[in-house]
Amino acid sequence: MIPVRGFEGRRVAVLGLGRSGLATARALQAGGALPCLWDDAPEARDKAEAAGFALTDLTRANAWDGAACLVVSPGIPHLYPEPNRLVARAMAAGVPVDNDIGLFFRSFATPDWDAMDVTPKVVAITGSNGKSTTTALIHHILKVAGRPTQMAGNIGRGVLDLDPAQAGEVVVLELSSYQTELARALTPDIAVFTNLSPDHLDRHAGLGGYFAAKRRLFAEGGPDRAVIGVDEAEGRFLANQMAEGPADDRVIRISAGAKLEGEGWTVFARKGFLAEWRKGRQVAAIDLREVRGLPGAHNHQNACAAYAVARSLAVPPKLIEQAFQSFEGLPHRSQIVAERGGVRFVNDSKATNVDSAAKALQAFPRIRWIAGGLGKEGGIAALKPFLGAVVKAYLIGHSARDFALALGDLPHEICETMARAVARAAAEAEPGETVLLAPAAASFDQYPNFEKRGEDFTARVRALAEQAQGRQDDGADARPT
Ligand code: ADP
Repeated sequence: MIPVRGFEGRRVAVLGLGRSGLATARALQAGGALPCLWDDAPEARDKAEAAGFALTDLTRANAWDGAACLVVSPGIPHLYPEPNRLVARAMAAGVPVDNDIGLFFRSFATPDWDAMDVTPKVVAITGSNGKSTTTALIHHILKVAGRPTQMAGNIGRGVLDLDPAQAGEVVVLELSSYQTELARALTPDIAVFTNLSPDHLDRHAGLGGYFAAKRRLFAEGGPDRAVIGVDEAEGRFLANQMAEGPADDRVIRISAGAKLEGEGWTVFARKGFLAEWRKGRQVAAIDLREVRGLPGAHNHQNACAAYAVARSLAVPPKLIEQAFQSFEGLPHRSQIVAERGGVRFVNDSKATNVDSAAKALQAFPRIRWIAGGLGKEGGIAALKPFLGAVVKAYLIGHSARDFALALGDLPHEICETMARAVARAAAEAEPGETVLLAPAAASFDQYPNFEKRGEDFTARVRALAEQAQGRQDDGADARPT
């Protein structure tokens, strides 16, 4: 745990008592503050009490008297579509509003800094897609390179649950736009922006607000190095703003398609090859085509971002390449869960929106596509240009019929359930094809979350494989000896 500094003996309100709220309460207490805990949901309050925390009713009129700060959980709106009423009251009372990320940056390693032989560093990753994969990949490369490292944020542990820093350690943090928008301190040593596509627009009042929230990671803290995906206009704008000139190597531009030449420092992937360029010369290259844990151009973008961070931390290209080879990928993100009879089965249950599904659909050559669930606004019309590799679609869930209409002439079958979709796709798949779960829809019509949906897919694929194995074994037993 990281004890929170700066509030010794003072009341700090904590609103939202999920995992990060309770971790915040513990960290505040450890730093000598007096946390006052509340949640709008009675079940969350009951859970906190059961875990031994005392509650303070923040709905009372005098709740904000003497409060030094209000710390809110990421799920609680602080601005759009409208601020939570307690957040609004705290603001009206002049109480500064912050989150656990802000508390982390003001507390991490600060008093011990002078005692370190090599100061610890913080890498923070934001962007619309690929944050978790990039974060996990950076963490993996550092482990392979034998560097002390911890990973937290939206992935793994909450930031305040991290262990106190060691000399030379690298903390890798995945940060969402909700987190970067609110944090009052945001001072990573290396900041990463993977890409931008519309998401969470209600919480940021549109794309401009969403980009502004992510941009804070760069504008507020002035990182020593900025790794920026320049495949969208927003990334190009951000890179331009951060660099003093074309040769300024505090900015590393990355791309999953464009050849980035020039005097600066760039890392890009084209046709499956990653290249690092510096001062107009190529200095290293890695063949990504056979890297199993990072299939598709979208994962090559993640590889570029992770490579750039690792190079900034002086990890040699050969070690990075080794680490790519041993990276297993994250569950539910273009994860190869089985290979049987020349057919690959890939779980990308995290592809809950059109953009991430489009990436998965471009990552494999001949696809039996399992899609559907709780469709999002606009359906899958925007996927039309990316369906070239789809041999046939197997549609499940609430949106199955809408998706079928949108697919028109493309072969498809309404399967309703995962069980049927997997069985049908596996039965029809031919060697060289990929059975891909990339739903382009939320999971909540049939599952509690995308993880459970991905687990169901994986379990059914494995069950089929076992059945097939069983049949083979029976066949073998029946053979005359
Ligand atoms: P995030 O943490 O930003 O949501 P993930 O790594 O969890 O990102 O991936 C989310 C979804 O987006 C998955 O379906 C994954 O296959 C896809 N994806 C991963 N990396 C990228 C990328 N660089 N660009 C677009 N989509 C991506």
